[in-house]
Amino acid sequence: MRQVNCQEIIEEIKKLCIHMNIHMEEDLKKVLEESIAKENSPLGREILKDLMNNQEIAAKEDLPLCQDTGMVVAFVEVGQEVQIVNGNLTEAINEGVRRGYEEGFLRKSVVECPLRRKNTGDNTPVIIHYDMVEGNQLKIKLGAKGFGSENMSAIKMLKPLDGVTGVKNFILDTIKKAGGNCCPPIIVGVGIGGTFERAAEIAKKALLRNIGEKNKDQYIASIEDELLDEINQLGIGPQGFGGRTTALAVHVETFPTHIAGLPVAVNINCHASRHGEIIL
Ligand code: SF4
Repeated sequence: MRQVNCQEIIEEIKKLCIHMNIHMEEDLKKVLEESIAKENSPLGREILKDLMNNQEIAAKEDLPLCQDTGMVVAFVEVGQEVQIVNGNLTEAINEGVRRGYEEGFLRKSVVECPLRRKNTGDNTPVIIHYDMVEGNQLKIKLGAKGFGSENMSAIKMLKPLDGVTGVKNFILDTIKKAGGNCCPPIIVGVGIGGTFERAAEIAKKALLRNIGEKNKDQYIASIEDELLDEINQLGIGPQGFGGRTTALAVHVETFPTHIAGLPVAVNINCHASRHGEIIL
């Protein structure tokens, strides 16, 4: 068994929380930069340039990319040959986030009870998804999820007869309804299949893929391309002011489902898509 110490997990999570809130990842910078040349609306181009300037200023001045520093979501892959020592893995991830948001002066955006709305004061708890895998590594993918885009996400239990057309119509309707409220240009995570909760989970997981990385299944990858094209023909544009750059990428994940069902979840991420990975 390979041992991974909780102190190391706390430290790495802390550093990643601070880093991803301040520095835009290279994959996102690249697609954003490329979108400026493709945008046909002059106002849309100016907004895209502003977003690039904003990330430069954030990196230079050590400031968050956005005032909404998000709720942290983690996808954890635990190798079967890994032994977590000196603490508890869930608590270590939460402690790393707690310290990152405190030491990085990042806004604490989580409330304890969704109805009584008292802030937890440390941006925890983290939403954690665990997966046991082969090997001796611990991989943690982290995202800081802003709620302007989270609030515009949706799920629907379609019927098998709705087919791929029904799936696409639901995704396009969700993006249309979201309009400028989700701070476009967006990344669209889609989960198709599984059960009600699995569809939502894989839609979120899809958002943490490197931006623009295609699904390995050619058929699903072609649906991603078609959807990106159709979404960018909706005319919503950067920040909802019109133009062709509504989405920077569409990532679709699928999972086997029941013969009687076709669940579809659409999880939207804004241009301040904070994400990163640590491997221990
Ligand atoms: S949706 Fe994204 S860009 Fe908009 S306020 Fe929230 S974190 Fe910031």
